[in-house]
Amino acid sequence: MARDFFIYNTLSHRKELFKPVHPGMVGMYVCGPTVYGDAHLGHARPGITYDVLFRLFRNLGYKVRYVRNITDVGHLENDADAGEDKIAKKARLEQLEPMEVVQTYTLRYHDAMRRLNVLPPSIEPRASGHIIEQIALVKKILDAGYAYESNGSIYFDVAKYDEAHHYGILSGRNLDDTREGTRNLDGQDDKHSPLDFALWKKASPEHIMHWPSPWSEGFPGWHLECSAMSEKYLGEVFDIHGGGMDLMFPHHECELAQNTASRGQGGVHYWMHNNMITIKGQKMGKSLGNFITLDELFTGNNKVLDQAYSPMTIRFFILQAHYRSPLDFSNEALQAAEKGYKRMMQAAKDVRSLPTDGSAPANAEIGGLTDRVYDALCDDLNTPIALSVLFDAVRIVNSVKDKSLKINAADRDTLVSLFTVVLQDVLGLQDETTDSASGKLVDGLIGMIVEERKQAKANRDWATSDRIRDELKALGVQIKDTKDGCEWTIE
Ligand code: ZN
Repeated sequence: MARDFFIYNTLSHRKELFKPVHPGMVGMYVCGPTVYGDAHLGHARPGITYDVLFRLFRNLGYKVRYVRNITDVGHLENDADAGEDKIAKKARLEQLEPMEVVQTYTLRYHDAMRRLNVLPPSIEPRASGHIIEQIALVKKILDAGYAYESNGSIYFDVAKYDEAHHYGILSGRNLDDTREGTRNLDGQDDKHSPLDFALWKKASPEHIMHWPSPWSEGFPGWHLECSAMSEKYLGEVFDIHGGGMDLMFPHHECELAQNTASRGQGGVHYWMHNNMITIKGQKMGKSLGNFITLDELFTGNNKVLDQAYSPMTIRFFILQAHYRSPLDFSNEALQAAEKGYKRMMQAAKDVRSLPTDGSAPANAEIGGLTDRVYDALCDDLNTPIALSVLFDAVRIVNSVKDKSLKINAADRDTLVSLFTVVLQDVLGLQDETTDSASGKLVDGLIGMIVEERKQAKANRDWATSDRIRDELKALGVQIKDTKDGCEWTIE
């Protein structure tokens, strides 16, 4: 923890020095997916952004408790208080139990995150497993006078809350702006005002997921779960709450109001929001015909895609932009990211066998790389700058490789540690050809074949040597003869 970390706080609209509630420990909560469909490109950015934050804090020496929830109840269509539950609707359409839908898509989400090398969080609570905590929270808010009952449902009284606190402080709105943007919806007759939001909803007869409560057989409002589960696992006051910018209003605004109404304080020191991914400048959406699941990206099986993109290419692409900047998806941008990623990985491979020269003086540029890369990461997670520093390291590795530069062993160790600790452990970028068991096998087998070709050449058996080269080429393995032997790369 020798290094200071600066974090942009959405609540204060400025970068602040990170000071944890408990020294040496970080508590972070991130809104996870509503599991009613396949994981898509929109899930990749928060998944990867908060994964790098989690990894960085651990690398800096903090003990981190990272809570990322699974929403499996209460998220109604159009993110409003009316309409069908997203999971129940999918269950009805596919004639499944709602929990079968939840299980299917939770597993697929986990699989996509694992392929993107996103570490599992410390705790992954489900909303449906925390109904008791949510009912207790509704009671607290009722007791504090910031909610009312209406026909078996409980609503948060936004106007009353706004008299004592500022509703809209997180998203930078005031009550009048919010009023203007509010549509009239079916079923809101129970509410005193269209601004109010549901804490507990009485279930209609056709609603399949419901639980008993003091007010009605019903289900919790969508915003309630995150207030209840973050308090349960991280305490009344904790460090970081993250999520996509699209969740800032109403979801996080309502969460903040619920926290304040029940505990007398917002409870979150730093609110963090990642920007969205657009596709050729447009928002991604099923109705726009540009919806891409992560599986389709990995296989190339979508008409929007020119080719398949590997999980690490996608991870690299996302890290090339700062998390608060918009990021536009296109085949060209992904192909450029793929090239950059491969160049980086080649250097990460080459660095281990770089020759050293005991007489070479300490290289000042190499000496400064570690501080530069951590300065970038600790400046509100500036991953694009961190990657550009690593590309400086790539250039140095290539100069040593082509013998235009000599370095000593200590400098090589610094380079090795940049590629292993920063690139692999903190940024989570792995070499896809060697980091899996099958990748290691492929590497070993190609190495053996290349060795056979070397023997053939030594025996002046040019026919065999050329045949091996051509057959490997047909499989996508490029062999390049060099002065010292040969190198190979997988295209
Ligand atoms: Zn949430």
